[in-house]
Amino acid sequence: MSEVNHPTTAGIVPSELGNSTQWLDRYNGTMLNTFGTPQRVLVRGDGVHVWDADGRRYLDLLSGIAVNALGHAHPTLTAAIAAQLGTLGHVSNFFATPTQVTLAERLLDRARCVGQGRVFFTNSGTEANEAAFKLARRTGRRRIIALEGAFHGRSMGALAMTHKQAYREPFEPLPGGVEFVPANDLDALAQAFDHNPQDVAALILEPIQGEAGVRPLTPQFVTSARELTQRHGALLILDEVQTGMGRTGYWFAHQDPRIGAGVVPDAMTLAKGLGGGFPVGALMTITEQASTLLGPGQHGTTFGGNPVAAAAALATMGVIERDGLLAHVTSVGDQLREDLLALRHPLIAEVRGFGLMIAVQWTGEISSQITQRALEHGIIINAVNPWTTRLVPPLITTTDDLAPLLEFVTNLPSDMAQGVTA
Ligand SMILES: *Cc1c(COP(=O)(O)O)cnc(C)c1O
Repeated sequence: MSEVNHPTTAGIVPSELGNSTQWLDRYNGTMLNTFGTPQRVLVRGDGVHVWDADGRRYLDLLSGIAVNALGHAHPTLTAAIAAQLGTLGHVSNFFATPTQVTLAERLLDRARCVGQGRVFFTNSGTEANEAAFKLARRTGRRRIIALEGAFHGRSMGALAMTHKQAYREPFEPLPGGVEFVPANDLDALAQAFDHNPQDVAALILEPIQGEAGVRPLTPQFVTSARELTQRHGALLILDEVQTGMGRTGYWFAHQDPRIGAGVVPDAMTLAKGLGGGFPVGALMTITEQASTLLGPGQHGTTFGGNPVAAAAALATMGVIERDGLLAHVTSVGDQLREDLLALRHPLIAEVRGFGLMIAVQWTGEISSQITQRALEHGIIINAVNPWTTRLVPPLITTTDDLAPLLEFVTNLPSDMAQGVTA
């Protein structure tokens, strides 16, 4: 089979080096056990598909957790990265590069804040949120309000704004001052501003809570968040690490009337889809107030903003525009949600989300079982929690590509949920 013998970029043939079982043995003997045992060993990808070390092909509806916007091995992205690396790969932030400046200009333009907006590039979403945390501290105020269910990353600052107790507890004490209110609860949000509002530095929100199970904020809640922060001089920071870069069919989810009601935040963070698979993130300050908070020497990075990452992001944005992927995401996503609901499958309790950020909520705690079964059927999906499957496929995914998923769901035995209840 040519699939098995396809050489990796290192010029080695996976089948000569070992099958999945052998690789997993070596993995367990070398890697820190923070992730558990991986589901498969993958050796290559092409478009919406990846192949494992045993030569099996998978439809990739996770895309590296909402990262591979253009799918795998996209020729435009590959060429842009190779060309930049062959010209100038890294220089540190003692120096500027045209690639980095051009990317900043393009992002500011798409966020409609050219002039007063500014960008700080990072290598990940966590680092972007860590920078946002430091930005908030620079207001001189102490309180930061985040949402129950929030996920903002695993570094100490980002973790302080992340709600999940199991992630936080082993690492306490975390940086202080962070409080949590329930998502979409207008009264709770207003109450948080009832006492000492002059000490609220920032309110940080994910427009759609990703790790919490693809839970969109309501436009009313986002509007109220903007009003309250504005009234009390606090920053509204949107974590668009997962929702940004076209994921919901808009450049940024807050521009989507179904979620953000067109509010303008003071700052937002990006990563995941930004580089189409190359690691890159950003803190963007949108308003003039936010753009002047961090001064010379107050934050830094060695790799952040390197020209290869910037070239990857520019190429990704270029293809999204050239190929009309924002409109494509809207139509393919709408169709997928409609098709999933039309199955009227007894295991499906709810279908949520916008664009190509979709959750299927099951009637029982069966999402891990379903993920396992999907893998065996050659489909990669994600059990974001025991009740919920997350679908965040590449933005290039077509309705035809999704046919195997619908067939898979159709054939799920309806008695699967028996004995495992929510
Ligand atoms: C993934 C994610 C992060 C963390 O990004 P990393 O690149 O893994 O550091 C932060 N916020 C949100 C909303 C995310 O989905």
